[in-house]
Amino acid sequence: MAIFGFLLSAILYYSAISKARAVISRTNRGVVLFIDGYFSEISNTITMLDEIKEIKDAMALDEENRQHILASYRSFSKANKNITYIYSGYENGLMLINDYTPPEGFDPTTRPWYRAAMAIKPETSIGLPYQEIKSKEWLVSTSRVLKQSGGGYGGVVAIDCSIDQVVHLLAQHDEYKTEFSFVVDRSGKIIIHPDQSLLGKSLPEITKAFQQDSQGDFTYRLDNVEDVAHYSRSTVTGWTVVTVVEKREILRPIITQVLFLIGLTGIIAVFLGLVQSILLSRRLSRPLVELGKKIKATIAGNEPDIEEYVYPNNEIGSMAWEIGQLAKKELNAKARELQESEETYKTILMASPDDITIADLSGRIIMVSEAAHRIFDYPPGEGPGMSVMDFIVPEDHERAQANIMKMLHENYPGPNEYRALRKDGSRLDIEVNNSLIRDRQGNPVRMVLIVRDITSRKKAEQQIQELVHQLEIERDLAQSNSLTDSLTGLSNRRFFDNAFRTEFARHKRSGSQLSLIMLDVDHFKKYNDHYGHLEGDACLRQIAHTLQTVVERAPDILARYGGEEFVLILPDTDSQGAAALARRIGESVRRLALPHAKSDTAEFVTISLGIASAADHVLTDGAQLVALADRALYHAKMNGRNRFEILPASI
Ligand code: GH3
Ligand code: MG
Ligand code: MG
Repeated sequence: MAIFGFLLSAILYYSAISKARAVISRTNRGVVLFIDGYFSEISNTITMLDEIKEIKDAMALDEENRQHILASYRSFSKANKNITYIYSGYENGLMLINDYTPPEGFDPTTRPWYRAAMAIKPETSIGLPYQEIKSKEWLVSTSRVLKQSGGGYGGVVAIDCSIDQVVHLLAQHDEYKTEFSFVVDRSGKIIIHPDQSLLGKSLPEITKAFQQDSQGDFTYRLDNVEDVAHYSRSTVTGWTVVTVVEKREILRPIITQVLFLIGLTGIIAVFLGLVQSILLSRRLSRPLVELGKKIKATIAGNEPDIEEYVYPNNEIGSMAWEIGQLAKKELNAKARELQESEETYKTILMASPDDITIADLSGRIIMVSEAAHRIFDYPPGEGPGMSVMDFIVPEDHERAQANIMKMLHENYPGPNEYRALRKDGSRLDIEVNNSLIRDRQGNPVRMVLIVRDITSRKKAEQQIQELVHQLEIERDLAQSNSLTDSLTGLSNRRFFDNAFRTEFARHKRSGSQLSLIMLDVDHFKKYNDHYGHLEGDACLRQIAHTLQTVVERAPDILARYGGEEFVLILPDTDSQGAAALARRIGESVRRLALPHAKSDTAEFVTISLGIASAADHVLTDGAQLVALADRALYHAKMNGRNRFEILPASI
């Protein structure tokens, strides 16, 4: 379309320009012919006047004969209506002129027409147009010297003719609105122009164009308007007539024509396109549209509803038919597969011992599996439409809502335990696991809740808990009744208290000897901190074992007094015997050589011992002897540890 438009424009442009050039050159020639004819006639008249003897010699004539001349001037002017004035002036100041009385002192020899004729004598001079003062008419003076009978040139005869007709002719062109002509003289000055304000102006940029040839074409630009022009020279006057027309006017119809033709072509193209698309649609698109309809109907499962379309007997038709058949087969197979898989899921769903409930995000139930009816004791068909909260006891609602939020925002799957309600209002325990069904964009659309009845499990758990509690009570009781220390296997504090009470009473009763050794592991806190509490326990067990092997005598009673402190009741033993045993005990623990990296006393675990003997003191109560042994132990610690001390007697 663009190429077509371009070619069309180019053709129309060149034809319009050449037509315009033909028109303006024709007009131009017409104007020149008219001017030539017009001024030839005037020239002939003036040449004829130049031949008349009376006119030539008027200076020598009397008044009467001069009146004859004036009368003939008048008749000439009357005969030719273009002639306004005929007159002759003479070197002696005589002036003969029709219809005009020259003022006093008028000197014809100073006038331009006189001088012009003198300047080119004996040729005829055609002067420049001027405007008549009275009638405002534009006139041109044609003048020629008068050759006197006696030789010499004593005067000039002149005719002033109106050029209104010429001016009219310049403006009056009917082919183009902007077309007009104007006349320039030999020097390039405008001498006749329809716009009189331009008279006398020089147009060198235009006159340059026609210096050489007597006629030709040219274009020029003036005030941003481009003009196409033709000029030709008048041989009679020497003037050049220029005819111009605005290029815009020449081109305007072309633009209209081109737009019209492009528009027309466009309409034809659209029309042809429509026709073609209707034809094509019959052959190509209709079968495809029908194919689309058929596939849609097959997907929707209502194929028999649509009326049967007979595919056209062409390639597209048979292709569409084939695709239709193929799609139908595939879709049917897919539908069968889907149905089978749906049934499989349904079977799994129904066989599940747990209830599988599907609800929307607000908790409204969409589907429940068969187990739901059994768990909550609802008749089949009930459930969908209810809220999941209807099945949970009100006390648990807030927690259930919070868990749903956690599932939606953190994908929290559970399990959560709730107290639930059966249809008859009775309660049961349930455990709920959640997951979400999401759409293709990953947004959750459904909740899947797997609900398990855990009532019996809960009951069993409760029973177990009760049992455990019972066992704990019994264990505590047994422990409080026990007399053995569970860590070391030695007798415990309870046993010691009982045994010491008995032994002290015997000592009091019979006055027998009784000694007590209290012993404490040195820097045992640091041992625990460095080796750990379990190692500490093992260390205590080893010390206890060693103590057991050293204390061989049957009546001696060894017990764990508490923490890392041990105590020995030595019946029938005085302080010396107790000291000997204390030495052996200290020695046996050193021999164990249990490393103690953090001890300030030795590289191995050591113990300190305190001895008190009942005989050395006046005692009223057994506790006093224990306190004395404890003080002795304190002294052992103070004196550097890894030793035993006996409090001196009588303290
Ligand atoms: P000292 O030489 O002055 O006795 O220093 P010590 O670190 O042994 O001081 P103290 O007797 O006050 O610390 C006893 C520590 O023994 C405190 C506790 O951590 C530890 N202990 C007490 N009973 C047990 C126990 O049954 N097992 C273990 N592993 N550590 C115990
Ligand atoms: Mg201690
Ligand atoms: Mg200690």
